[in-house]
Amino acid sequence: MIHEIFPVGPLQCNCSIVGDEATHEAMVIDPGDDIDDLLAILAKHKLNVKQIVITHAHIDHVGGAMKLRAATGAPILLNQNDYALLQMLDVQAAWIGMADPGKVDIESSVTTGETVSAGSHTATVLHTPGHTEGSICLYFPAEKKLIAGDTIFAGSIGRTDLPGGSMQKILRSLHDTVMALPDDTVVVPGHGPRTTIGIERQSNPFLVKR
Ligand SMILES: [Zn+2]
Repeated sequence: MIHEIFPVGPLQCNCSIVGDEATHEAMVIDPGDDIDDLLAILAKHKLNVKQIVITHAHIDHVGGAMKLRAATGAPILLNQNDYALLQMLDVQAAWIGMADPGKVDIESSVTTGETVSAGSHTATVLHTPGHTEGSICLYFPAEKKLIAGDTIFAGSIGRTDLPGGSMQKILRSLHDTVMALPDDTVVVPGHGPRTTIGIERQSNPFLVKR
């Protein structure tokens, strides 16, 4: 599996490119910004983007999605519980001093039990509300990898003080869904360094049982 992770935009959102070396099919997760750099990486690997998957509708994760769609023709997927947040990208842009990226058109909602894929690499969608109502994680069982959006970080969890956030819901998502994954699962959070489920189970102050 080709997996390029590179931080984009002023908030350094971890954008992921997942590609199949054989078929050259790819998905891009959270193209928040810096789409020209993203297109250069896609060209380097000769990848064709088939799906654009958004872990949640915060501007740093979704801001570049329409530009990427225009360049690739790939559909944009987002859980429907974040559609309301998507309608306030102008407000979000003002919060962090970014330009309003304009309207984002979603092809379809994705939720628990559905899959997204890049050639032979398939991820199960896990709906993990809490950071936002529509937050999702993507779990690649064969590769033992979780692309977690802002639900979990190395040593921390997503903030819940923005519209749609809920500490109760994020803790339920973490305990019932995220921590149910095997310890050797590599976690790629929406910001910051990689970690594993096992490390977080042992040391994440929000998750260790007292
Ligand atoms: Zn976020």
